[in-house]
Amino acid sequence: MHPRGMQGSTPTPVRFCRQDVNSLPPSFKAVVDKYIDSCYNELRELSLKIHDCPELGFEEEYAHKVLTEFMEAHGFSVTRHYLELNTAWRAAWSNVSPSSKRSVRTIGFNSEMDALPGIGHACGHNLIAMGGVAAALGTKHAMEKCGIEGSVVLLGTPAEEGGYGKVILLKRGAYKEIDVCLMIHPTPGPERSGTTGSSLALQTIEVEYFGHPAHSARAPWEGRNALDAAFVAYSSISALRQQMKPTHRVHGIIEGREWAPNTIPDYSKMRWLVRAPTAKEVEVFAERVKNCFKAAALATACEMKFTDYPPLHNLRQNDELASEFTAAMELYDRVVFPDKGEPVDISTDFGNVIEITWPSPWLCDPDSKRWR
Ligand SMILES: [Zn+2]
Repeated sequence: MHPRGMQGSTPTPVRFCRQDVNSLPPSFKAVVDKYIDSCYNELRELSLKIHDCPELGFEEEYAHKVLTEFMEAHGFSVTRHYLELNTAWRAAWSNVSPSSKRSVRTIGFNSEMDALPGIGHACGHNLIAMGGVAAALGTKHAMEKCGIEGSVVLLGTPAEEGGYGKVILLKRGAYKEIDVCLMIHPTPGPERSGTTGSSLALQTIEVEYFGHPAHSARAPWEGRNALDAAFVAYSSISALRQQMKPTHRVHGIIEGREWAPNTIPDYSKMRWLVRAPTAKEVEVFAERVKNCFKAAALATACEMKFTDYPPLHNLRQNDELASEFTAAMELYDRVVFPDKGEPVDISTDFGNVIEITWPSPWLCDPDSKRWR
C-alpha cells in the first residue's frame, strides 16, 4: 500500500516494487560504499563542526548554514528557512524532468541539529545530521550510477529536544511529497549493533500557579504560596509513582521568579514530561498527573493555568523496512536487534511523522548517553 496520505490510521506494511537487499547486484553496494568512503573526511568534518558549535532548538543557525552549503555544493537544490521555520531547510534532487508525467517515488531523510542545554550534543544530533546527509548523498549517487528514476529529499529538522520541530513541519506539509522517510538516532547498546524498536509516546505538560505575595513572617496569612502549590504537586506525583506501571515515566522541574525566603512566592511554573508506550496510555496517565496539579491548586488556594503541547507519538516500525535494514546492516557485519515490543525509553517527534510515512532504526553506541 502506498503510504502517502495515510493520516491518523494504524499503518499497514508499505508495499514497494521491492528489491530485496540480498538480490541487488554486487555492483550496487560497491557503488554506494566507494562513494561514501570518498566523502568520509568531509562528512566527519561536517559532524565535528556541528558538534563543536552546539545550538539549542530553533537556534541552529550555524548548523543551518553549514548543512545547506554542503548540500548545495553536492548538487542538491536547497530551500533555506523552509516553510517559514527559520532553521529548517530542504535539500532536494531528482533525475526526472518536471515535464514528465510519470509518477516516481521520493525517498526522504531527516537531519536533526539541536543540542541540549548545558551538555551540548549529548544526544548525538550532529551524527543524525551527518547521517541524513550521507544517506541522501549515497542514494543520489547510486540512483545516478544505476539509472534508477526518483527523487531524494533531505529535511533539516529543528528542535527535536522538546521543540516539536517535525510536528510543525508535518503540519505545514513538509512530508506530503515524501513516500518513505527514514532517519537514524544513536542509542546505547552493544558495539556494531542497531535496533528497530519503538520509542515512548510523550506528553509535555506546563502548569503555572498564581498566588499572592506577603511577608513571610509579618503577615503570612495574607499570602497564597505558589511555591507550596508546586511542592504539593511534586509530592503528589512522587506518591503516584508507586502506582504507575514500570513502562511509564513522569519527571519534571520547578521554576520561579523573584523568590526570596522572606516573601511568600506568588508565582511558580512546572514543566513535566509524561511518557508511556502508546499515545493512548499517555493520555490516560497524563490525566492522573493533571489531577495532582489540580489538587495542589485547591490545597493552596492558588490559581492554575495549563499550557498544552502537542503529544509525541510512539514510533511504530514498519516490518518491511526493518527487514530490509537488517539485511543491509548484515552486509556490513552489523547486528540488528528486532523489535521485542519494548520501547526504547526515550521519545522523539519522529513518532508523529509515521502518521503519513515510515520511520527507521536506532543505531547503538555503547558509549552514548540516553536523553530526551
Ligand atoms: Zn535526540
